[in-house]
Amino acid sequence: MTVLRKNLIDGEWLGEAGSRNINPSNTNDVVGEYASAGPEEAKQAIAAAKAAFPAWSRSGPLARHAVLKKTSDEIMARKDEIGRSLAREEGKTLAEGVGETIRAAQIFDFFAGETLRLSGEMVPSVRPGVGVEMTREGVGVVGIITPWNFPIAIPAWKIAPALAYGNTIVFKPAELVPESAWTIVDILHRAGLPKGVLNLVMGKGSVVGQAMLDSPDVNAISFTGSVGTGKRVAAASIEHMRKFQLEMGGKNPLVVLDDADLAVAVDCAINGAYFSTGQRCTASSRLIVTEGIHDRFVDAVKERLDKLVIGDALDAKTQIGPVVDQTQLKQDEDYIAIGRQEGAELAFGGERLERGTPGFYLRPALFLGSTNEMRISREEIFGPVANVIRVKDYDEALSVANDTPFGLTSGICTTSLKHATHFKRNSEAGMVMVNLPTAGVDFHVPFGGRKGSSYGPREQGSYAMEFYTTVKTAYTFAG
Ligand code: NAD
Repeated sequence: MTVLRKNLIDGEWLGEAGSRNINPSNTNDVVGEYASAGPEEAKQAIAAAKAAFPAWSRSGPLARHAVLKKTSDEIMARKDEIGRSLAREEGKTLAEGVGETIRAAQIFDFFAGETLRLSGEMVPSVRPGVGVEMTREGVGVVGIITPWNFPIAIPAWKIAPALAYGNTIVFKPAELVPESAWTIVDILHRAGLPKGVLNLVMGKGSVVGQAMLDSPDVNAISFTGSVGTGKRVAAASIEHMRKFQLEMGGKNPLVVLDDADLAVAVDCAINGAYFSTGQRCTASSRLIVTEGIHDRFVDAVKERLDKLVIGDALDAKTQIGPVVDQTQLKQDEDYIAIGRQEGAELAFGGERLERGTPGFYLRPALFLGSTNEMRISREEIFGPVANVIRVKDYDEALSVANDTPFGLTSGICTTSLKHATHFKRNSEAGMVMVNLPTAGVDFHVPFGGRKGSSYGPREQGSYAMEFYTTVKTAYTFAG
C-alpha cells in the first residue's frame, strides 16, 4: 500500500493525496503519495511561522541545540534507510544517497554547536558613559525553496542555520523529491520543535512557491534552483524589500595541464562530470585540456567511461544511476543533438540504455573538438554530458575557464605550484579545487559562487549566519 505524506502546518499534518512520486530507476515503482498545498495552505503556513517567531527567537541556545542535536542523531542512526529512500526517489546511487544523508546529519550537528557559540560585541561609545552592544537576531519568517538534486542535504543546510539563529520556516521542497523533504521535517517535528516553527508545504512551484514570493510576511527567502526561477525570487523579493539568497546554475571548468598527474586528472573528470548522473550544480561540464596531454587524457577518460556501471540506483554495483525524470532526459538528449549540430564530435555515449526495469537511463556522453562559444559550453545541461575544449597553454586555459556567465566552482589538475597558485588567485569562481573534482565540498565551510551562479551571502559553515541573522546596535546610557 502506498503511504500518504501530508503537509505540516502549525504543528498539524494536513492535506489529501495530490501527487505521486515515481522511482526514476523503475517507473512502475510508486514511492509515495503526497499532499499538494495550494495558496491557502501556503498562507496558513506563513501565518503559523509568523505567530511562532517571537517565542522561538527568544527560546535561547539550549532549546535549539536540543532539537538540532536530536535531529542529527536520528538522521545518522537511520542513514542507510534514508539514503536508500533518497536514491529510490532521485536516482543517485546508494552510496551517494547514504553519503548525502550522513552529510545532512553532520550539518545538523554543526549548527547544534553553533547555537552554543553565538556571540556579540560590546564597545565604548564615542560619548562618555554610553555603551554600545552589537548583537545578531533572527530575521523572522524564512521561506526555503529547494531543488531536486540534493533532496536532503540542501534542505538541511538551509533549515539547520535558520533554526539555529532563531528563525521560523516555511519550507517548499522540489516536486520530484517530497519523500526526503517529508522525512527531514518529520524528524525535526518529533525532535520537539514548537508548533509553527517549521512548516512543510509540498506542491507546485508556480503555486506554493509563488504564494511565498508574493507574501509580505515572508522576511527572507533562501532559494536554490535554476537561474530562471532565481530571477523571479529576486524580483519578487525586491518588491517586498526582503532579504534573499540565490544559489543557481554552473558551467564549471576543469583545467587539465600538460604536467598533470594523468590518473588524478581522469579521476577528477569522471567524478566531477558524471557522478550523481552529472546532476550537480558543481559538475565539471567543461574539460579544458592543454595540447600536450589532450590525446592521452581523452583516451583514458573514454576507457574509464566504458567501464562505468550504469543501472538501477538501488543496485549496490551501480556507479551511475538514471536521469531524474523524462523532462530532464529530454533536455540532456536535446543538448546532445545541439552539440552535434554545432560541430562537436560525440566521442562517447549519449544514447539511451535499456535495463531490467523501465527507467531514464542514459550513457554518459563526452564531446571532443568543442569551442567555448558553442551552446554546450555556455548553457547548463545538468546531465551526464561533458565536452573537451583543447587549448594551447595555461594562459588560454584560464581565459577560457573564466569566459562564462557562471562562477560556482572551478578546478585545475597540475603539478605546478606556480600554475595552481595563479589559478586559485585568478579563477572567477566562488570555490576553486586543485587536483580535486569541482564537485564535493565540506559541510563546515562557506559554499557559493559568483556572477550568474549565486547572489547574496554564502551558505554553510559559520558564514551562514550572515543571511539568517540581522545585526542590532543598541546604545545604553547608565547615568
Ligand atoms: P527549479 O528552478 O525548476 O526549481 C527549484 C525550486 O523552485 C523548486 O522547489 C520549484 O518548485 C520552485 N519554483 C519553481 N517555480 C517557482 C516560482 N514561480 N516561485 C517560487 N518557487 C518556484 O530548479 P530545479 O530544476 O529543481 O533544480 C535544478 C537547478 O538547481 C539547476 O540549475 C542547478 O544548477 C541548480 N542547483 C544549484 C545549486 C547551487 O547551490 N548553486 C545546488 C543544486 C542545484
